Amino acid sequence: MTREQRHKAIIKRRIFVICCLAVLALFTALVVFAVKAVFGKKSEGGKSEVSVNSESSDVISSSEQTISDSTPSYPSVGPNGLDANYSILLLVNDKNPLPEDYDYEGNLTTIPTGYINGMLNQIDKDVWNYMKAMIDAQRETQTDPKNWLYVRSPYRSYDTQKMLYENQVTRQINAGLSREEAEIKAATVVTRPGRSEHNTGFSADFNIAEDSFESTPMFTWMQEHAAEYGFVLRFPKDKQDITGIIYESWHYRFVGINTAKEMNRLNMCLEEYVEYLNGKKEK
Ligand SMILES: [Zn+2]
Repeated sequence: MTREQRHKAIIKRRIFVICCLAVLALFTALVVFAVKAVFGKKSEGGKSEVSVNSESSDVISSSEQTISDSTPSYPSVGPNGLDANYSILLLVNDKNPLPEDYDYEGNLTTIPTGYINGMLNQIDKDVWNYMKAMIDAQRETQTDPKNWLYVRSPYRSYDTQKMLYENQVTRQINAGLSREEAEIKAATVVTRPGRSEHNTGFSADFNIAEDSFESTPMFTWMQEHAAEYGFVLRFPKDKQDITGIIYESWHYRFVGINTAKEMNRLNMCLEEYVEYLNGKKEK
């Protein structure tokens, strides 16, 4: 074999190897493409940063990923970097009083004066991060401070609630009712101590605790955006028979961002949502 022939042979072998590599690369690309086409949708749905409107079927819960056929996935981070999966579902109402050993003062913080429009100024420390972000966001939409959101009545101690309740009982007795009748009647107006959400520090009344709040720009904004910060209208108009409380356009309860979005999607009040979750657990 001449030198030239040997040189040609080497070049032929190289071309052969390059061709083999090219075929292999093409084959690999085809396989990857096929796998993506088949499983692509599932892996997209599994990500936690999927938009709220997506039709995906996964839901992210605070501790783990659970899959449900009907629940959309929500982003795990809310406005201002707030944890959107953080959730408080403690149900407090006339039938579900706070436990005897409930730590009323344990996690409270003082709301800065610029945010307050009343006598009381304490709230749950963790809830305040969400509430402050919500108030700041609402105020950014309004130039006139008279249209700003203010906290009217946040946390109430057991004793404050007791005093409010007792005052109401006295008023009913003065109106001619017996003690027993007065207590029942009073409970429809003022919640008994230990049974009000205000005793938890997770709730607040805003601006004015009157029906006129409904016709303010603050209420309109809350209707649209409160859930983005983890708050729900606690006593809606169409749920009075379930909550046992009259419609209160001014009273909002923190439940968590993704929980609030889910409750609104399902059109459930807290009583219904807690029952719904318990039902899911039993399945
Ligand atoms: Zn209230």
